[in-house]
Formats: sequence, structure tokens, C-alpha cells
Amino acid sequence: MKIGFIGLGNMGAPMAANLAAAGHQVTGFDTAAPAPAGVTLAASATEAVSGADVVFTMLPNGQILRDVAGQIIPAMQQGAVLCDCSTVDVDSARAVAQAARAAGLGALDAPVSGGTGGAQAGTLTFMVGGAEADFATVQPLFAVMGQKAVHCGDSGAGQAAKICNNMILGVTMIATCEAFALADKLGLDRQKMFDVVSTSSGYSWSMNAYCPAPGVGPVSPADNGYKPGFAAELMLKDLGLSQQAAESVGAQTPMGALAHQQYDDFVTREDGRGQDFSAMLPRFTARNG
Ligand code: NAD
Repeated sequence: MKIGFIGLGNMGAPMAANLAAAGHQVTGFDTAAPAPAGVTLAASATEAVSGADVVFTMLPNGQILRDVAGQIIPAMQQGAVLCDCSTVDVDSARAVAQAARAAGLGALDAPVSGGTGGAQAGTLTFMVGGAEADFATVQPLFAVMGQKAVHCGDSGAGQAAKICNNMILGVTMIATCEAFALADKLGLDRQKMFDVVSTSSGYSWSMNAYCPAPGVGPVSPADNGYKPGFAAELMLKDLGLSQQAAESVGAQTPMGALAHQQYDDFVTREDGRGQDFSAMLPRFTARNG
């Protein structure tokens, strides 16, 4: 297929490279990043999408997505599908999909889980909102970049799944970190703590797959000085999106609100910016003295 790819950052670059390595003709554009292997760089976003069957966007936030969509939708060929993989607010996802459909295009919101490691390995999970026919068109490309794509419903349903998932992730990471810091104070060995919890009812992805304690469990950013990985400021962004969504529909998310407050303090008032989101553990340890 002929593919346009806008946003070649930490996630977009390896995703585009995997599409090119699978034999697709990929033309990319980014305002700052260089071309990944196998991808032809265009001089503008409109040039990158011209003649493409499918256009992916992988951008920092909903406002930038809306701006880019405003540029590229008129330049896309009729019947092509615009597939946004960024994590953005549900309203932006729906607005962009509506504009694309009005212009005779298909549209999907398809945020991902799996991080930069999953993007490089081609093992992402895609959660997808939009029409069944558009999902079917893009599915072979999801299969190149990921291990699973779930069609969640109409436009916005992919973003809804993503922000609910990441709200759980933020809450369980904080709970796991504060429990390790409590265990320290109680004199419990961290390895013993992991051995018990990872096979007991307190287990979660945060404990079992991304353990925040260095030297314990599988290799994670904790073993690399808490270099991201998944940056604390990205978790703050996602928790902001889940709180915004909860407010817009009148849903109670007290734990999500508290997790948002904790990451806001960590990133904007403490030294969390640039650290992995699991660096909540040394934060609690330092606070506990
Ligand atoms: P990034 O900052 O590395 O990449 C974003 C890229 O977009 C940058 O290269 C930037 O130059 C480019 N860009 C900005 N404005 C542009 C414009 N107007 N036109 C073209 N390019 C533009 O971020 P990332 O880590 O690749 O994340 C991208 C998206 O994926 C975000 O929405 C993020 O929340 C989401 N996400 C990230 C991860 C992760 O682990 N990094 C995991 C899941 C989802």
C-alpha cells in the first residue's frame, strides 16, 4: 500500500520503519525528526499524504492533531483512510473523524499500548474507533505494527479505551510504588515482596511486567536509572485526558483524580519531568525518609 505517516517521533519512527520493512511505500513528514529507515521524507504534510491509501498520524496532542488534519484532509485522495494513532481527547478524535468523513475519507482513532519497545518490536496493541469497513482496510497494517487490534466501536471509542486503560495504569503504578515504599519501612525485602505480590491478588502489569523496584522482576526503566520508558509527563497527560472525559460525562473517578494530582505534583512541582512514570517509587522512598 501507499502510506503517508505524519509524526516520526519516538513512536512514529519505528512504526513507519516497520511498515516500510514490510514492503509498503511509506512517505513521512515531521517538523523536526529525521526519516527512519526505508521511509521517504516529504517537504510538507500535504506532500506526504498525496496519493496515499492510508495516512497515519502519531502526534503529541489533540490540538496539533486538529491543526495537521486541517492541512492534510483536503490533500488526501477520495476513499483513503485517515488513521490517528496519537493519544488525544475523545472530542478531538471525533471532530477529526467527522471532518474526514465530510471530505469523502475513511477515519479511525487507533491509539496504542506497548510503548516505544512495542513500537520497535511491532507488538503494539491498537484500540480502534470508527467504521467496520475502515477497520478492515487498515487491519493488515495494524498486523505489521502490532500483535493485536481491537475494534472498540464508533469514532472516539479507541480513545475512550485508551484513557480508561491508562487511568488504571496510573493508579496501579502509584499503588505498587507506595506499597514497595511501605514494605521498605516495614523491613520487608523487595525481592520477597515481588515474589509474593506478583503471584498473589495484588498483581498487576505495573508489578509483574514493569516492576518499579530496580533489580527486581523483569528488566524495566527502574533498572536504567528511571530513564523513560513511559515518561511521567505522558502519564500526567493521559490522566488529564481521563479526568477531562470523566467531567464531560459526569462520571465519578476519585482514584483517577488522585493519581492525576500525584503526577501533577511530581512533574510540575518536583523533579519528575524527564523521569519514567515508575520513578514514583524513589519519590515515596525519599518522602518516607
Ligand atoms: P514524540 O514527541 O517523540 O513524537 C511526536 C512527533 O510529532 C515529534 O517528532 C514532533 O516533531 C512531531 N510533530 C509535532 N508537531 C507536528 C506537526 N505539526 N507536523 C508534523 N510533525 C509534528 O512523541 P511520541 O512518544 O512518539 O508519542 C506520540 C503519541 O503517542 C502521543 O500522543 C503519545 O501520548 C502517544 N503514546 C506514546 C507512548 C510512548 O511510550 N512514548 C506510548 C503510547 C502512546
